[in-house]
Amino acid sequence: MGSDSPVGPVLMLGGGLAAISFVTTLRGNGFAGEVCVVETEAEPPYDRPPLSKDFQREGDSEKIRLDISRAPNVEWMRGRTATAIDTRQRRVRLTDGTELGYATLVFATGARPREIPALRDAGVPLFTLRTLEDARRIRAVLVPGARLLVIGGGVIGLELAATARGLGCEVTVVEAADRLMNRCCPTTLSSLVADCHRAHGVDLQLNTQLKGVDGARVALSDGSTLEVDAVILGIGVVANDELARAAGIACDDGIFVDAFGRTTCPGVLAIGDVTRQRNPLSGRFERIETWSNAQNQGAAAARALLSTEPAPFVELPWYWSDQFEMKMQVVGLAAGDAEIVRGVPASGGKFALIQVRHGRAVGVACVNNAREFASLKKLLALSHLPDVAALADPSTDLRKIIQRAI
Ligand code: FAD
Ligand code: NDP
Repeated sequence: MGSDSPVGPVLMLGGGLAAISFVTTLRGNGFAGEVCVVETEAEPPYDRPPLSKDFQREGDSEKIRLDISRAPNVEWMRGRTATAIDTRQRRVRLTDGTELGYATLVFATGARPREIPALRDAGVPLFTLRTLEDARRIRAVLVPGARLLVIGGGVIGLELAATARGLGCEVTVVEAADRLMNRCCPTTLSSLVADCHRAHGVDLQLNTQLKGVDGARVALSDGSTLEVDAVILGIGVVANDELARAAGIACDDGIFVDAFGRTTCPGVLAIGDVTRQRNPLSGRFERIETWSNAQNQGAAAARALLSTEPAPFVELPWYWSDQFEMKMQVVGLAAGDAEIVRGVPASGGKFALIQVRHGRAVGVACVNNAREFASLKKLLALSHLPDVAALADPSTDLRKIIQRAI
């Protein structure tokens, strides 16, 4: 890190959001050395969040391009994949046999959708969503009247269900757990999201799993069957960490990194969805699969690489999700030992849910309430809660309440 070790040439594996944030920050901070980005996809870089939302409605791939204009003099090797690394010789081999040297190697390889291999030959059109190409294929089946089965009631499944319903499809969502967005949102919000989907005509089956598929006929674990035109899997992702693992770098479905993006191998960093980093709230090493993490951890790791006194990256994990009329923003932990409700929780309403643990705020979820999100986030930095009655009253001025508590 910093001037103790050689920084360039810098070789990036993966050219998604985290990589672009990293190289833009390198150049923005005056780094003039060689930078090369190897990216499997031949497609110019694009943003993934619209793939389950606006892109399905509009189909405009130019609208979702990521800006690389602030990363000049970067060699982009698109349509090429890294297949092996030699961390002793500091060399990387690509699929076409090319070998590239580096002083700093950065894993920004992201993650890929989990699959159910048995479904591949089941005879029904089967989709997962990660790439623009996946999104184009899905878009072609989201036609009025199409019968879709979405497996997994997480963010991808639910955003696609909402979009597909808006486009006139018949949608069934099957979720193995007893609630939606199990991994990442409070139970109160899960229930409201379920109400919202049902009100819009989504057939939602909780505590249910897929048992089998035979052509268009699908069997569920509750004994029911249904006819579908397509199955979309949204059952989570696995980290693209195989190359790091093969090179002996510490991984566990994600590359372990410290607050400077450093892996256990000298000269090798990792950023974005592929990493497993300490969540400042839970204290555990977790994969933080959000847009803001890819953007901000990528930038922080680049600054750290160039600095002799780097600042650690300690951001509270947060994400947004848009489903029907619910525009959600969620930060911190999904559960505490108590919950404060600010406003009237209803799927079309504007409200906030504050999770409290041992007298401190540990999580906030805002729905249709973007204006208060920034203020409410500040609660998570306080060692004690401000006046609970005032927090629960949506007519109070949040900024004043929080200012008084600081
Ligand atoms: P990626 O964007 O996955 O980039 C990694 C790149 O590495 C890929 O392009 C891949 O092709 C490449 N690669 C992998 N292996 C190799 C190799 N060996 N050699 C060369 N290249 C390689 N987050 C939110 O907060 N809000 C949202 O609303 C939201 N919506 C989303 C919707 C969808 C459909 C998806 C898929 C994600 C969404 N996210 C959202 C999550 C967010 O987009 C991701 O967290 C973010 O894109 C991660 O960026 P990344 O650069 O770490 O990984
Ligand atoms: P998630 O992990 O969010 O959700 C997957 C869901 O599927 C979980 O509820 C999981 O339950 C459930 N599940 C797992 N296996 C089965 C099964 N066999 N049958 C039924 N349900 C099952 O992943 P997604 O696939 O929704 O999202 C993938 C990636 O895209 C993530 O990285 C996510 O962060 C990102 N993304 C983010 C968005 C956002 O932040 N707005 C929007 C869209 C995508 P359990 O937890 O019990 O395993």
